[in-house]
Amino acid sequence: MEGNMMTTLNLVLMGLPGAGKGTQAQKIVDEFKIPHISTGDIFRAAMKNGTEMGIEAKKYIDQGNLVPDSVTDGIVEERLSEDDTNAGFMLDGYPRNIDQAHALETMTTKLDKSINAVINIHVDPAVLVERLSGRFICKNCGATYHKLYNPPKVEGTCDVCGHHEFYQREDDKPETVKNRIAVNTKLNTPLIDFYNEKKLLYTVNGDQDINDVYKEIQKVLRAI
Ligand SMILES: [Zn+2]
Repeated sequence: MEGNMMTTLNLVLMGLPGAGKGTQAQKIVDEFKIPHISTGDIFRAAMKNGTEMGIEAKKYIDQGNLVPDSVTDGIVEERLSEDDTNAGFMLDGYPRNIDQAHALETMTTKLDKSINAVINIHVDPAVLVERLSGRFICKNCGATYHKLYNPPKVEGTCDVCGHHEFYQREDDKPETVKNRIAVNTKLNTPLIDFYNEKKLLYTVNGDQDINDVYKEIQKVLRAI
């Protein structure tokens, strides 16, 4: 239509754990009014609604097994076949590996859609480890703190009960976090290369104020 300058936004949002993807995802869907397709949510919905792929996924999950790519791809395809995605969508948590990226290309072609931007919120992995491993807990009263964002008023002393001993949950320990970041980096790197070659990749600096990260994203999306 003449005068219609707005391109349908078919987006993929990427970012390592701790990069602030959730916050930015919310801002994008609020402003651009496109459905937020997050893999966790669509899995739960597909299983609840008993779709063909939802039933398939449930078999694996009930047995404590990983859901194979073929099923994940199927659930995403079911979701992208729904009418509300005709005006755009934002994928979050998918594709997670290069095989899924190829599958996405096949299904979007089939559905006569195409991805027009992949936004990668980039934060140096060492910074992410700092962010994600900063949480610690008072051994006496269970009050939680964060080294960077919420330290006790007096270093080494619990604000609530005055005790001096703290511990970290296994998930918050630097070794655990480092491993998690490494696993995700290994999956993300080929995806970044893939979308970079297709000239779809936009990298934004995630190591700044939340609103400044979003300004960079807005710039990208308004230029599409
Ligand atoms: Zn305490």
